[in-house]
Amino acid sequence: MDLHAYLHALVQPLEVGDELAAGVRFVGASTELGPRLCFETPSGPVAVEVGLREHMPRFAVESGPWALSYRAGTSDAPVDTAVGLALCEAVAQRLATDTPRIPAAAAAPRVREVRAHRMLEWRSLGPESHYTLSPYLGCTIGCRYCYAQTRLSPARAMMGLPQVPWGSYVDVRVDAAEVLREELSEARPGPIKFCPIVSDPYQALEQRYRVTRACLEVLADAPPGFTTMLLTRSGDILQDAESIAALPASRVGVSLPSADPDVLTHFEPRAASLATRIEVLERFCGLGVPTMAVVQPMLPGPVEALADLLAKHVQSVSMGGLQGTNDAGPLFDSGPYRGCAEDSWQRARFAALGVALDQRGVARWDGELPPDLRGGA
Ligand code: SF4
Repeated sequence: MDLHAYLHALVQPLEVGDELAAGVRFVGASTELGPRLCFETPSGPVAVEVGLREHMPRFAVESGPWALSYRAGTSDAPVDTAVGLALCEAVAQRLATDTPRIPAAAAAPRVREVRAHRMLEWRSLGPESHYTLSPYLGCTIGCRYCYAQTRLSPARAMMGLPQVPWGSYVDVRVDAAEVLREELSEARPGPIKFCPIVSDPYQALEQRYRVTRACLEVLADAPPGFTTMLLTRSGDILQDAESIAALPASRVGVSLPSADPDVLTHFEPRAASLATRIEVLERFCGLGVPTMAVVQPMLPGPVEALADLLAKHVQSVSMGGLQGTNDAGPLFDSGPYRGCAEDSWQRARFAALGVALDQRGVARWDGELPPDLRGGA
């Protein structure tokens, strides 16, 4: 049984469309951003995150081995505490029965071929509303500070998979293109973001599986109104440059947290070099594709040089802070990097970079979409 089916089994006999409580309807399970049960409530969509107690550092309600927390279902809007708690309590009552656990996998492969149940995850964010699309879950580029690991490790625990280091496991959604094609025929148009929330679309396994490429081929035949945005830390995106450029209104971005190549090697040893990331931007600029950069987190290195690079190669820049050091604590503890994980250091450097970008006339944006992709639903 896969995790999606298991989540449904956990709340049986509740089926999609059934009411859990007055006015609260079950709309399905989701595994894209960790194990979730999704509900439509009178105050909007709310997702209940489910995990084993020992793998959930923070939670709202516990029940037997399970811990539950809540968050907005398709947006970033805060969920009313009373609504969230009541929903978790109601779900906890469903989980209280002895649902058989997924048997522990003694020797699970690090690369698993899995079926996708859904590819387009709608995020309702007003003018920034968009879909996320992840051909893979997990990432062999394995940046040690990557916060994706906090989303995926509870799911692995629920599936009885061993807890192995971040960067050493990936689920390949082998039927992604097929599922996407079906979804596109019914989905409302909007921007589609291939983004590194839980993976990079051009990690090395793409050479073997070509799931991202297959999704791009499907998008080439999509109904009007869908736009595509790809973010990566890999140079392998160059292999799809022409087909990406041929998509309607495509955008490409790279993550560029420093202009110092040694710093990038220290923190992101399996990501593309600085030179390759610049090559990516130059190639897409040459093909007429608008480019962007994401600076997240801020890493050490000369701010003015980073601003110069960005001004030369991208139309816009998004900045975001470090979301916990995760496995990268020792990297930040050594010599010149000491103190760079502090909030105060991150904030001060972002302020300096912001000034430098403004001086060079580079558009900055917060949130999920660059200004020219906003419009929303
Ligand atoms: S490339 Fe992105 S998704 Fe992959 S490990 Fe690095 S930050 Fe995480």
